Formats: sequence, C-alpha cells, structure tokens
Amino acid sequence: MAKWGKFLSKESSLLRTSEIRDLLKLTEGKNVISLAGGLPDPSTFPAEDIKSITDYVLENFASRALQYSATAGIPELRKELVNLSNQRGISGITENNIFVTVGSQEALFMLFNLLVDPKDNVFVEMPSYLAALNILRARNPTFHGIPLTDQGPDLDAFENELKRLTANGEKIKLLYIIPTAQNPGGTTLSLDGRKRVLELASKYDFLIVEDDAYGFLVFDGDSPAPIKALDKEGRVIYTGTFSKILAPGFRLGWILADEEIIESVELYKQNVDLHTPSFTQFIAAEAIKRNVIQNNLPKVRQLYREKRDVMLQAIQEYFPKEARWSKPVGGMFVFAWLPNKIDTLNMLPKALEKGVAYVPGSSFYYDYSGRNTMRLNFSFPDKQKLVEGIKILSDVIKSELT
Ligand code: PMP
Repeated sequence: MAKWGKFLSKESSLLRTSEIRDLLKLTEGKNVISLAGGLPDPSTFPAEDIKSITDYVLENFASRALQYSATAGIPELRKELVNLSNQRGISGITENNIFVTVGSQEALFMLFNLLVDPKDNVFVEMPSYLAALNILRARNPTFHGIPLTDQGPDLDAFENELKRLTANGEKIKLLYIIPTAQNPGGTTLSLDGRKRVLELASKYDFLIVEDDAYGFLVFDGDSPAPIKALDKEGRVIYTGTFSKILAPGFRLGWILADEEIIESVELYKQNVDLHTPSFTQFIAAEAIKRNVIQNNLPKVRQLYREKRDVMLQAIQEYFPKEARWSKPVGGMFVFAWLPNKIDTLNMLPKALEKGVAYVPGSSFYYDYSGRNTMRLNFSFPDKQKLVEGIKILSDVIKSELT
C-alpha cells in the first residue's frame, strides 16, 4: 500500500477493512469450530431441482440465458418476484416496482450510494447488519442509533431523537431496518411497531430501507408482513435475497420500490455492472414458478429451528449466569450480551486458540460500542459442533471472568 496508496481516491479511505475477517482467515484449514460465519447449511440447497431446471433453461432459453440482458432484470424473474412478494403479503405492485440485483448486498450498496450524502441523518438499529453499516460508513453520514430491545428497535427512543433533530431544524434522510429475524439481534418487530415506524416516516418525512433477508426464514409462528406491505406512500424501499431461500452462490437479490426509485437504481447499475447475470436469473425464475423454493422452505425452517434449539440449550447449560442472549424466532444467529468486564474483540484470539470462532459484536454497532457482545451462527455447523463450540466458548468466557 505504501507504494501505490498515493493514487487512491480520498473516498476510498472511508472503506472499512474487516479486521475480524482477517483474523478469521488465519483459522482457515485449522481445527476451529466456526460460529462466526453466516452461511446457510448446504444440505438445504435444492441441488437436484437446480440441476433439472438448468437443463431446462439451456434447452429452451440458451440464446437469452447466455446473452446480455436488461439492467433491471429479465422480465420472467421480475414477474415471478411480484408473485413471491404477494406471498410475503405485499400487494398492488407490478414488475416495474422490481429490480434484480447481485445479492441484496449490491441492492444496499446502490441504494445508500444513491441516497446518502455526507452528514445526512441516518438511523440504524444498534446492533445492525455489519456489511450494511460498512457501506453507510463509506458515505460519511451522521449516524443515529436506535437501541434494540427484545421486541425490536426501541421506538420511543427513536421518536425522541426524531423530535430532537427536527426541533433543531434538521432533516432526516433514512432509516435502515431489518424488522424480521434481525441480523444480528434475532428480534422481530410487531405489526403495531411496523405501523408506528411507517407513521413516523410519514410524519418526519424520511425514507425506510427495509432489509427482509430473513423474511421467509421465520420458524416460530408466522412471519409478520414486511413494513412494505403497509406502505401506501411508497416510502419504503424493500430489499430481498435468494441467498437464504435458494442458494447464496447465485448472488441474486432484488429491490422492490416506487418506480421513480427503480429508475434511479437502473441508472446507477448501468455504471456498476450493466446487469445481473442472465443465467442465474432464468434458473431462479423457474425455481419460483415450479414452487421449488416454497416446497423447500419447510425443510429449511425445520432444520434451523432444531439447530437454534441445540445452540440455545447449550448456551443455557454452559454460559455464565450473568450473560443474556437473544431467543431468535428465525434467521441464523443468536446474539449474546456478556458481563461488561468482557471485551469480545480482545477475547477472540484466545477463543481461536482454544478452537472456536465468533464475531465480536462491536462490528454491528455503527460506533463500535457493544464491546461485551458477540454474534453466534447456528445455521452452518452441525449439531454436535454447535454444542462443542459453545462448550469451548463458555470455558473461554469463564476464564475471562475469574
Ligand atoms: N442483509 C442481511 C441482514 C444479511 O444478513 C445479509 C447476508 N448475510 C445480506 C443482507 C446480504 O446477503 P446477500 O448479498 O447474499 O443477499
């Protein structure tokens, strides 16, 4: 970097490297149980269905599936995404409200780049999804955190901050929120809470970016309809992903928003990568059409429910009594709050040494607070490893406390 750094743009200095990723890289190939990742269990991938769909696509659509295609996505997939959104409780939309992206990560990247200027007032949950925070950090906004309670974001605290800012003559740009099976907090906001968030957006005139990455992955009770389903004004920009319901390797996600927003995203994406790969879009469209996703979901939910229970039981048994942790109704993660004395970032090398990895929670806080917290993944490791990993981790934590 010393040699070429002088050529880098000023803006690139705002890009955040993940020191944690670097640390975890050191564990590759070693005998470490990773509770750190966010990978789906590969046994949930409907590989046989994908195989037959791939043959079908090549036999019937090769000339289009292997060709360049429209920036907003192939019409077949946009149409099927209208159907999938309807199943998620969102009605009154057309293909023109849908925009296909390279994972929801690209969706968030384009949206935050389109919407956020330096110093803009941006609200995020505390904690929130680390990779979204990193995109926002590179925009240099003024962050405002909404503490997470067991019921989702603390909406009284949110409203108070909105009042305070407005009284100072400030404008609010947007709220980034993961209302269902939040990553990393595991919380789900109630229907009333969702209505209130929307009312606040209307009253204080800001946009909501609603990340519904885990909307189809709620395994206790029903998944509440997204905020987007309640949105009459078009204030909510919704992002979805195939990563947790089909295959993350496809790198497919989507934006659902007012047509005017979709048009701006289209301009942006022309500069980024012209369009999302045509081939995987054809496969995904056919997978929705053939109900592959809907037929597979009960199995995925069942497996993750079991794995969550295994992890929660192990935590209950082995973690020190002073700790508290989320009881997620969906998603892939448990979030834990340890006694204040513990700094999970400092503790990570010791845990790796003993053979277990986790993500220190501070990365999920826009201001890197939450030093006593950690995120634990239950979707990827097998059940035996989950228990073993929690046992080792508990010993590491306890030795920090003595
Ligand atoms: N949002 C949330 C909350 C996530 O957890 C993830 C994946 N970990 C993403 C967005 C991005 O996923 P993808 O790009 O694979 O759609």
